[in-house]
Amino acid sequence: MGPDGARPADVLISGEHVEAIGDLDPPPGAQVIDARRMLVIPGAVDAHTHLDMNVGAVRSADDFVTGTTAAACGGTTTVVDFATAYRGETVAQGLAKWHSKAEGRALVDYSFHMTITELTRPAEDIVAEMAEQGITSFKLYMTYPGRLMVSDEVISEMLRAAGRVGSLVCLHCEDDAVVSSRRAQALERRFTEPRWHAWSRPPSAEADAVARAARMAEEAEAACYVVHLSSAPALAEVRAARERGLNFYAETCPQYLYLSAERYEEAPQEAARYVCAPPLRDGWHQEELWEGLRAGHLQVVSTDHCPFTAADKSGGLSGGGWKDFTEIPGGMPGLETRLALIYQRVTDGDMTPEQWVESCCTAPAKLFGLHPRKGELTVGADADIVVFDPSSERPLVPERLHMNLDYSPYAHLVMRGWPSHVLVRGHLVARDGEPVGDAGWGKFIARGPSGTP
Ligand SMILES: [Zn+2]
Repeated sequence: MGPDGARPADVLISGEHVEAIGDLDPPPGAQVIDARRMLVIPGAVDAHTHLDMNVGAVRSADDFVTGTTAAACGGTTTVVDFATAYRGETVAQGLAKWHSKAEGRALVDYSFHMTITELTRPAEDIVAEMAEQGITSFKLYMTYPGRLMVSDEVISEMLRAAGRVGSLVCLHCEDDAVVSSRRAQALERRFTEPRWHAWSRPPSAEADAVARAARMAEEAEAACYVVHLSSAPALAEVRAARERGLNFYAETCPQYLYLSAERYEEAPQEAARYVCAPPLRDGWHQEELWEGLRAGHLQVVSTDHCPFTAADKSGGLSGGGWKDFTEIPGGMPGLETRLALIYQRVTDGDMTPEQWVESCCTAPAKLFGLHPRKGELTVGADADIVVFDPSSERPLVPERLHMNLDYSPYAHLVMRGWPSHVLVRGHLVARDGEPVGDAGWGKFIARGPSGTP
C-alpha cells in the first residue's frame, strides 16, 4: 500500500530503509517474505500512549518493555508516549525522566509529546527548547484541576507559541466546570458506582470544551489537535471548526468505536475496568464516529493506552480499595489491538484499506512530524512494514495478547486479519502475533514540525 493506494508490488529493503517498490527480482542472497494474498502496509503509529505512568499509588500496567512488545505484535511500529512535566518540574526534567524509562527497553521506535501543567517560563522558550530535542507536540488538560488542568490563558499562550514554529498543541477537552459540579452532586448523594463516573462527564461537557478549544485556536491562528474524541456532539464541533477553515484535528480511539456505556451497568468491580475519561458513551455515538473517520472529520485512531490490572482497578488510586468512582484509576488498554480492530470495518466493506492505513499510520505520522520517515510505504522511508494476513483469525483474549493485563475489554471479539510479519527499520520484531528478539531495538525518534494529513 503506497501513497497512491493499494496495488500489487514487491518491496525491497536494504538495511533500515525501503530501497525500491515495484515489480522487482530479489537480489542474490536476499531474504524473501512471500506476501501474496497479504496486505503490505506501513507500520502503524500510535500517537497516544501512557506507558510506565504513575497515577496515585499505582502505575499503568505496561512499561516500555511490555508495551512496545505488545505494540510490535499488533503491528504498531512507532509509539508517541506522553512525557509529563508535573508542577515543580521543568520540561527538561520531565523529558529526561521519560527518556530513562524508555532508553534501551523498547522493541519499536518511540517518541514523546510533552505534557505541560504550568508555564514556568515563557511559552516560546519551552516550545523552542523542546523542538531542539525533537519534541514538537504538547498536551494540555482542560480538566483534572489541581494536578493537570491549565487555564485558558496558558492554552492560548501555548497555541500561539507552538503555532509560530509548527509544533502542535493537543488538548484533553472536557469542560471542568460541568465535570466538577456533577462529581460533587453525585458524591453528595452517595452515588459512588462507576456509572456515575460516566454521568459526571457528559458529551455536552466534551462538546463545549472542543468549541472553546476551536475558538482559542482560531484566535491564536494555530493548529490544534483534540485527543480521544468520544462523542457525536464533540465531533460536530470539530467538523464546524474545520468547515471554518481551521487546522483543527481530532483522534478517536477503539474503545469509543467498539464499547458503550452499557459496560458501566456491570457489577461495580467489572465496571471499574471501563472507567476512562472521556467515558464510554451510549451506543449510538459509535456509528457517528465511524462516519466521522470515513468522511475525514476525524483524522486519526490512536489508543490512549493506559491499562491497569484488575487488582489495580479494584485497589483504587490509594491501593486500599476504592470507595467511590473518583478513586478508580482511569484508563483502558488498546496498543496491541487497534490495527486489527479498525481493519474489521475494511472486511465489512465499510472502510477502504486506504482509509484504514490513513487513520492508523499515515495521518498520525504527518501530524506529529514523523513523515516521510514513518507512516507511508515510499522509497527512502524507514522500513517499518506490516505484512497483514487478512485470513488469520485471532480472539482478543488475554492469553493471546502481550499487554501486561489479566483481562481484555474485547474478549468477546474474534479478529479477522492480523499481522504476520512486523518490521521496524528492516528488523523483524514480531511474527504471527508473537514477539521476535528482545526489546532494545526500538530507538527514540526526534520529530520535525507538524505536517498536514
Ligand atoms: Zn491519554
